[in-house]
Amino acid sequence: MFRVSQQIDFCYGHRLLNYEGKCKYLHGHNGRAVISLEGEKLDERGMLVDFTDIKRVIRSWIDSSLDHCMILHQADPLLPLFQQHKQPVYVIPSNPTAENIARLIFEYAQQQGFPVVDVTMWETRNSCATYRKPLGSS
Ligand SMILES: [Zn+2]
Repeated sequence: MFRVSQQIDFCYGHRLLNYEGKCKYLHGHNGRAVISLEGEKLDERGMLVDFTDIKRVIRSWIDSSLDHCMILHQADPLLPLFQQHKQPVYVIPSNPTAENIARLIFEYAQQQGFPVVDVTMWETRNSCATYRKPLGSS
C-alpha cells in the first residue's frame, strides 16, 4: 500500500456558534491541511498521484475558496453583513471547527476523484483534527 501526503497552508477566519469561550468571537488562523491519499498500485511513472495534480486541483480550490475567507456557519447572524460588504465568505452547514473544515476538504478531494483517506486540519501549531474515510466505504 502506498501513501502520499501534501500539506497546504492557508489563512482563514471563523467563529463558533453555541460555544462558550474565546472561539465564539471572530478570529483567524494560519491553518495547515495535510491531505493523504492511498492506493495499492502505481501508474507507469511510478506514482500513486502526481503531486502536481494535487496542487493543481485541491490547492487551487483552497486558494480560491478558503484562503483569506471567513468560514461561517450558515446560521451565523453575521453572514448577511459580510455578504452585503462583499467580504469573502465560505458558508458551511455546521460549525466551522477544525473537524468540519477537515471534512470539507476531504469531501472536495473525494469528489474530484482523489483516493483520499484522511485530511488533518492543523488549526494552530499544537492542535489538529482529522477526518478520515469511514470504515467500509470504498
Ligand atoms: Zn479558531
